[in-house]
Amino acid sequence: MKGGATAHAWPLLDQHVARYQTFLEEHRYAPQTRRTYLCCVEHFAQWMFSAGLSVRQIGESAIGQFLVEHLPRCACPGPVRRIHDNRPALKLFLKVLREDGQVAPLQQASDHISQELSRFDLFMTEVRGLAVSTRQQRLRFVGHFFEGAVWFEADSCPADQAS
Ligand SMILES: [Zn+2]
Repeated sequence: MKGGATAHAWPLLDQHVARYQTFLEEHRYAPQTRRTYLCCVEHFAQWMFSAGLSVRQIGESAIGQFLVEHLPRCACPGPVRRIHDNRPALKLFLKVLREDGQVAPLQQASDHISQELSRFDLFMTEVRGLAVSTRQQRLRFVGHFFEGAVWFEADSCPADQAS
């Protein structure tokens, strides 16, 4: 990670990222994996801030927007991780925060997913004015992600960091 790139405007989000780092260390993730995952989560945090989302909005919907809307056209400075790194990194981030009670609990998994998906659909309709076919395609894509289905392995982000 680049020095000085980690500070952003939200103490709470910094706290979440620090908690995530501790979790990775406690669970003996390999140093390389820890660096990769933290890099992904930092990127997600930066994006949430620039997208005007609040820390409380961390959830499937925000992660879906990040993966589907932001990553494919990401122009952030610094190394950007590939989508197959972002997927497990952000899923785990959400899991850690959820276990800590920092974000809304996952009640009925399928209910929750459909709730988040309809929120995402609303976002696509109202904010982005996307066509029905495009929305359906993206909903399927995000839905599969949260149901743990195998995701396509295409790399949507350029400039994967060579370590
Ligand atoms: Zn970016």
